[in-house]
Amino acid sequence: MSENLNKNFIDHNEYPQTEVIHHRCVNMLARLFNCPTECTSIGTATIGSSEAIMLGLLAHKWTWKNRRKQEGKAYDKPNLIFGANVHVCWEKFAKYFDVEMRVIRLEKDCYTIIPDRVAPLIDENTNAVGAILGTTYSGQADPIQEVNDLLVRIKQEKGWDIPLHIDAVSGGFVVPFTNPDFVWDFRLTQVKSINVSGHKYGLVYPGIGWILWRNKVDFPEDFAFKVNYLGGWVPTYTLNFSYSSANVIVQYYNFIRLGREGYTQIMRNCVENAQYLSQQLAASGKFKMMNEAQMLPIVALTLKDTIQNYTVFDISRKLRERGWIVPAYTMPPHAEETAIILVVVRDNFSRDMADILYKDMLQACDYLVRYAGEHREEEAQHRKHPIC
Ligand SMILES: *Cc1c(COP(=O)(O)O)cnc(C)c1O
Repeated sequence: MSENLNKNFIDHNEYPQTEVIHHRCVNMLARLFNCPTECTSIGTATIGSSEAIMLGLLAHKWTWKNRRKQEGKAYDKPNLIFGANVHVCWEKFAKYFDVEMRVIRLEKDCYTIIPDRVAPLIDENTNAVGAILGTTYSGQADPIQEVNDLLVRIKQEKGWDIPLHIDAVSGGFVVPFTNPDFVWDFRLTQVKSINVSGHKYGLVYPGIGWILWRNKVDFPEDFAFKVNYLGGWVPTYTLNFSYSSANVIVQYYNFIRLGREGYTQIMRNCVENAQYLSQQLAASGKFKMMNEAQMLPIVALTLKDTIQNYTVFDISRKLRERGWIVPAYTMPPHAEETAIILVVVRDNFSRDMADILYKDMLQACDYLVRYAGEHREEEAQHRKHPIC
């Protein structure tokens, strides 16, 4: 890491081997995501997943625009379809790059998109549909196969070839190892691009994401800029220019050192620890699990309706006293009556720590039942008698 901090990634002329290593990483990821052998996948490292998502969507916008131009049709009203369960960077993309957002609402007890709600939003100006493998809110997956089937049907019926972009920020480095038979990736024909995070379950320090396109032919040729590279020409298609090579090198190091087997062991361990914690908490009778399937090492909980005298926000605040940062938040508009507490289990979270967190959470709940009322009185007293 420290040997490569000073190397500017963009300078292929000075550091040609970094570009070779980068290319190998892209290739390994394309194979991890089951890119068909007849396709020539392309991709790049980015500063993070937000940049990766924006690049993926921007390329689809260009493909659509080029097609419309060729057909002599208007290209001034692009739209993009995704669920309200996306990360804020999707909204950022729509705003900064001037694409209409068609957002599928979430509702109580349904926190992913459903194909029946996607279908009516699609038209000839749809640049792409987005689906998530591991949402920021609940760790759930959108029904990716069903959405793909819908897009295949639309292609046959109307001739619109609408790409499906998968935001696999968290899931992309977990599911291929723990659940390889689950089909969500380039095995589905309309999945034209996938982004994955190097700094979440990719096991690298903050500052790296990846975007992959299924096939060169899905990628608008004029999207890439050519940079001179030792007499040859290397295309670049990122939003940023300069940044450190260190994260790319460390990503490669982890790929080589851990291999498929190492990542599988680590991810399995994370998922098993998350399942263990979530089963313990469910058995306490206080919590309801949001993500029954438990594909990702994310424990998303709501309080049962029977618990009236404290909230997940109280638990989150109380846990901070014990050094745990466990966020609590409400779901997006139209589902905001649901408040969640979320535990993201990382590779350094041991079974021991799961036991300690479980105990601390139950103790927090007990405390809140016993003392919540008294504290409110105390607080009121303080307000009545200011110290000065
Ligand atoms: C974290 C996250 C992002 C944004 O990733 P950055 O690397 O912080 O830019 C996007 N989508 C999902 C689902 C995420 O969890």
